[in-house]
Amino acid sequence: MRVLAVGIAALDVISRVERFPLEDEEMRALARRQVRGGNATNTLVVLSQLGHRGAWAGTLAEDGESRIILADLEHHGIDVCHVVRYPEGQTPTSYICLSRATGSRTIVHYRDLPEYRAEDFDRIDLDEFGWIHFEGRAPEETRRMLDRLQAVRGAPRCSLEVEKPRAGIETLFQGPEVLLFSRAYARSQGVDDARRFLLAQQRSSSARYVFAAWGDQGAYALERGGEVVFAPAWPVQEVVDTVAAGDVFNAAVIDGLARGRATADVLHYACRLAGESCAREGLAGLGGGERGRDA
Ligand code: ADP
Repeated sequence: MRVLAVGIAALDVISRVERFPLEDEEMRALARRQVRGGNATNTLVVLSQLGHRGAWAGTLAEDGESRIILADLEHHGIDVCHVVRYPEGQTPTSYICLSRATGSRTIVHYRDLPEYRAEDFDRIDLDEFGWIHFEGRAPEETRRMLDRLQAVRGAPRCSLEVEKPRAGIETLFQGPEVLLFSRAYARSQGVDDARRFLLAQQRSSSARYVFAAWGDQGAYALERGGEVVFAPAWPVQEVVDTVAAGDVFNAAVIDGLARGRATADVLHYACRLAGESCAREGLAGLGGGERGRDA
């Protein structure tokens, strides 16, 4: 399947530390690596490992960071022809502190770059795609993109990630077939009961599927007409890297639904893949069993 993802790419500078530092402490890192990150592009890279062909709609500056990002995406066979460059901007950067003691990742993100605009999205031929995934940023622009999708007959299937509370984000809940919520978003709405949260989100959206990833507690899903299903987190002996667990989870949900799997299967599969990604560094080599079987 051809998948278009609208969202960001960033350069992640990841320092592995024994434990999270105290304020004003000076500490030596155990290791340092610099990799392409960003939710939408991470999801595309995982989808490409699962046998899909990805294209990215996003923005980049024209700096050294953007060249590293483009080289990585091209290495993974991601189509970058829809990328819009802003020479006056700076490519987003995430400074990530990865604690060996807990596996947690603390992120300081910097961006000085316009978001991808609806008028750029309008130039993309949607017939090529079987699925469009939105990262749920810039609600006004994204709403216009969703309106375009809704107006197209035989439009691609559509998912939306809702990771953070943003002004107007709930205006995007009408239209996408799949809504992928984070626990952080649920908490920002004053709810920490995943079942209650999903039932409420389903009532106030038009989505057929709503998912909620609950970190090391696992994840929940609800299909319209069904009941909330739960999958525990995949048991991981040593949590090494949770940096992109949510992006892996989202890719697995898209892959599972595209293959026509039942909701509960999709949920267990997504927890397995996301859990496996926590047990290793980076995104390479995920989903060995699924790879290469194009959906
Ligand atoms: P994010 O990366 O956006 O913070 P989450 O922390 O919600 O995403 O994690 C997404 C999914 O990754 C979870 O639903 C779970 O299946 C898996 N996961 C996250 N942390 C762990 C962990 N410590 N052990 C096993 N699986 C995990």
